[in-house]
Amino acid sequence: MRKLLTITSVFMLLLVSVVMVPAGTYASDVEEHASGQVNTPAPLISPGLQLPLSTIANSGVEGSIIANAIVSSGAVVGFTDELFPLPPGAVGGFSPTSVLGVPVIVVDSAYRNADPRTLGAILIHEGTHVRDIGILGKSDDPPYSCLGRELDAFGAAVRYWNTEFPGGKFPVVNSVEAQLNDLALIRTPQEAVQEIVQLLTLYALPGQECNR
Ligand SMILES: [Zn+2]
Repeated sequence: MRKLLTITSVFMLLLVSVVMVPAGTYASDVEEHASGQVNTPAPLISPGLQLPLSTIANSGVEGSIIANAIVSSGAVVGFTDELFPLPPGAVGGFSPTSVLGVPVIVVDSAYRNADPRTLGAILIHEGTHVRDIGILGKSDDPPYSCLGRELDAFGAAVRYWNTEFPGGKFPVVNSVEAQLNDLALIRTPQEAVQEIVQLLTLYALPGQECNR
């Protein structure tokens, strides 16, 4: 039972790489913004994700670097009800080459009222991908480097979680928090890596990262 619960909760955090047409008022805001900032795009961060982004920036050197990567990329960062939906089971998504011409980070709006630091953990996972693209470019990944990037992203989220919640967050109120506690506290780093690699290899859905 415990193993099944672990697999389910880890899977919830898998990042998806999707390119969809955004809809709703947020999209028109984006277009308006883009037309006025052609050469120097500025980030467009949903109000509900600005505090989580600040917690990342203030969490230490690694968090500061990743938060700066998000901002300097000109990324659009918003909830699913502001941008576009995610596949079932995903709580976060990242599109490096969206129709908007900038990276897009999407967070499940079911988590809109979650602890800002829990949202921060989702953002720092996605933001690690933004940072990696800035370093490595947008060329197609062989599976090995894709797994490497996922390990980077999960690792950054776990380190951030340990900074925000030394000893773990209690009580946990959603599966993302339970998973981060599990990866950060219950398992050794080696066990956590093994679990992430196994999940990315065996359980990824079509269209998700590391399933090519
Ligand atoms: Zn990822």
